[in-house]
Amino acid sequence: MIGDIAAMAPAATAGGVDGAVGFDGVADGAAASLIALEDAHAAHTYHPLPVVVERGDGAWVTDVAGRRYLDCLAAYSAVNFGHGHPVLVAAAKAQLDRITLTSRAFHNDQLGPFVSALAALAGKDLVIPMNTGTEAVETGIKVARAWGYRVKGVASGQANIIVADGNFHGRSISIIGFSSDPVARDGFGPFTPGFRSVPYGDAAALAAAIDENTVAVLLEPIQGEAGIIVPPADYLPAVRRITSERNVLFIADEIQSGLGRTGATFQCDNVGVVPDVYLLGKALGGGIVPVSAVVGNADVIGVLQPGEHGSTFGGNPLAAAVGLAVVGLLNGGEYQERARVLGEHLRAGLQALVGRGIVEVRSAGLWAGIDIDPALATGRRVCELLMERGVLAKDTHGSTIRLAPPIVVTEDELDFAVGQLEDVLRQLGAS
Ligand SMILES: *Cc1c(COP(=O)(O)O)cnc(C)c1O
Repeated sequence: MIGDIAAMAPAATAGGVDGAVGFDGVADGAAASLIALEDAHAAHTYHPLPVVVERGDGAWVTDVAGRRYLDCLAAYSAVNFGHGHPVLVAAAKAQLDRITLTSRAFHNDQLGPFVSALAALAGKDLVIPMNTGTEAVETGIKVARAWGYRVKGVASGQANIIVADGNFHGRSISIIGFSSDPVARDGFGPFTPGFRSVPYGDAAALAAAIDENTVAVLLEPIQGEAGIIVPPADYLPAVRRITSERNVLFIADEIQSGLGRTGATFQCDNVGVVPDVYLLGKALGGGIVPVSAVVGNADVIGVLQPGEHGSTFGGNPLAAAVGLAVVGLLNGGEYQERARVLGEHLRAGLQALVGRGIVEVRSAGLWAGIDIDPALATGRRVCELLMERGVLAKDTHGSTIRLAPPIVVTEDELDFAVGQLEDVLRQLGAS
């Protein structure tokens, strides 16, 4: 089963990184001029590694000079199924030739099959199709407030939603307003009221923050951008128990943790928890188009009436065709199983480096947060050196690097990535 999926990723062998040998990490030629063009005219809201990607297949990408890199970020898990997955590309190409956008003023023939398949995958009734993760979160907040006023009976304008310190739910004004990251938040106020933040992983603090006006608890089952922070095993079950007892919705932001990454369809599955609402995005679009969704039962999601919410592109036929194909891949269970099995292999490889330039490793499935010894180097520096060796990864919060390769990655390729990391740490002076 594991081998079958890998066979779908063309030419994915560690031998493919030969071109990376001798790369000194300084972009030249076509790459340098493309970077200069981007620097001159794209606002500087990112600080990318100096690699200019031209194409990708499976777990690998190729830059404009023909050098190949193992993609250990997978676009923050939006490329869970690998670059150019043949089934997803075929679904997109077929739909491109039919129709791509109708708006929801009319029905299209792709939306019904997509939402019914996604609802079934999640074990829920209803889907609100949107585009980006941020929109799914905003939509989830609207649903929770509407449910609070119309079903729970919270007094008008009084609803509050509980979130966790260290959260990442997107970049809109409302969402950054309840971020605890000063870089994301400072200088962008005033913010939307009605949110309370409590320490992540502390069920007692969460219970204490709930009052009669609390409509929802919004959490990432694992905090991704915070550095793959895995809460204590009893945390999410406790949150589920508390929210059920207090008549509060449990909204799980599975935009990054869901859809195979952690070795299950949802990270909530791994801890035996069923939230009221799933927020999905990233991999739902197969790395091809932005597709996000809010998924829940009719007693919650059904509170929204015609005209109260919408999106010009949400539920468009191209997105729905790709999303349906993504659900089809997940229905087989092979990707979840593969992420679980290979994730154990990755974890073992990384654990062996603890004390040798790595302070701590946290992981779930094929998703790992690696804390680099700050005395050795920054996470950024480690990522630059990995890039020179044909491995693309991304740092977060200074000294953490995150690995989230496409699930089509092979065991040999994971060994290659861990081996390169080991060499980088040694090069930086680790014993
Ligand atoms: C990426 C992410 C978002 C935001 O998704 P966008 O598509 O970038 O808007 C929200 N929540 C989580 C947990 C994420 O990882």
